[in-house]
Amino acid sequence: MPSFRLFRVIGIDVKVHYSLFIVLLILVWIFYIQELPYGFRGTEYALSLSIVASVSLFISVFLHELGHSIVSKKLGYNVKEIILFIFGGVAVLEEQPRGMKELFVSITGPLVSFAIAAIFYFLSFSDNSVLSNFSAVFFRINLIIALFNLIPAFPLDGGRVLRGLLSRYFPPDRATSIASETGKALAIFMGIFGLFYNLWLTIIAIFIYLGAGEEEKMSKLETLLDKLKAGDIMTSDVKAVHPGITVGELMELAFKSKHLGYPVVENGELVGMITIHDVAGKPENVAIRDLMSRNLVTVTPDIPAMDVFRLMNETGIGRIPVVEGKNLVGIITKTDLIRLMQIQEVLRVGRK
Ligand SMILES: [Zn+2]
Repeated sequence: MPSFRLFRVIGIDVKVHYSLFIVLLILVWIFYIQELPYGFRGTEYALSLSIVASVSLFISVFLHELGHSIVSKKLGYNVKEIILFIFGGVAVLEEQPRGMKELFVSITGPLVSFAIAAIFYFLSFSDNSVLSNFSAVFFRINLIIALFNLIPAFPLDGGRVLRGLLSRYFPPDRATSIASETGKALAIFMGIFGLFYNLWLTIIAIFIYLGAGEEEKMSKLETLLDKLKAGDIMTSDVKAVHPGITVGELMELAFKSKHLGYPVVENGELVGMITIHDVAGKPENVAIRDLMSRNLVTVTPDIPAMDVFRLMNETGIGRIPVVEGKNLVGIITKTDLIRLMQIQEVLRVGRK
């Protein structure tokens, strides 16, 4: 994501996505044209208050995410970064907490938002009209953030809270299915209701519906990969190439075998990786030795399959060679993982 680092707090990078600046301008405008208690139209210092409220809104979203992050860290999960972007914020964890831990991590954000709302609720009774106007608006916004996030649907906090609760009574797979079906049902109801009442609800409902499906897929993959090792899921029959072959020969091979990338092996040792992107537009008689990448990300057959998947997501590499010592023994691609899921899906349905 195109974003830049703002600062670092308790070991977590806080980043801002560029889209935030557009959102800030739109927010200032909305606060400026709406009347109390949703904006400052016609009040004293209306423009200044609108600007302060927009910036403060992102500070409170940041505090909400910081709440999630602090509890995650306390429970032993590594928080990579907090990103503030168009729809608010997200705390990026290296691993999703499960069970009751997920409940604790998820509930903290909304609790922080409720706490901010409570503070500004009391400040809204101030004798100072500027402070009381600002607080009346800001109290409501934080209340809306807290309540919205508690809607029991993925990917919102409420969906995770629900799954955390369900995990006390059901196995992880089942807990995810129930939570995501609940979220989908709610989204359908909300979408239809929105058609008659407010189209914004319908748009939000579509996002919730899609998010629920994503979460279910991710969780199924996790349960599946938990039991397997890299050696179990790799393709052992690897099409490897020699560094001496030319770009032309590689292109010919690519047309026949239809793979996008190939491990490069010399004297039984893995020495590089070459993809068709590396050779595109290059003269046909150049040896691929000069074009292949030598910076290799590899795994051994005994590491958990889930770690391979995480590695793919983190590095953006879709094709990881499996090595024993320096010998290439297999390869794992993103397509392998997707096929594995489809096979599991068919077998599961067949068993019912
Ligand atoms: Zn949250």
